[in-house]
Amino acid sequence: MRTPHADLHTGTHDPFHLPHESWRRLYGLACVRCRGGRGLRPGGHAYTQHADGGRLGWAVQICADCDHHSKSTDSKAS
Ligand SMILES: [Zn+2]
Repeated sequence: MRTPHADLHTGTHDPFHLPHESWRRLYGLACVRCRGGRGLRPGGHAYTQHADGGRLGWAVQICADCDHHSKSTDSKAS
């Protein structure tokens, strides 16, 4: 299964199947959604599966563009 552009915000990810690029997003080095690096700010958490069956949370970053987009989408939904 290849989902290189997946939004890491959604779901719980298997750390053994994450591409190297996804780790950059988990470490907050790139936008969690678009992999960009402009205007990064704290963007909530992404989760990976842990060996004991739990989840491991990562404080991820989101870029200004995606942050703005998600906020405008939310306001329209409510
Ligand atoms: Zn982005």
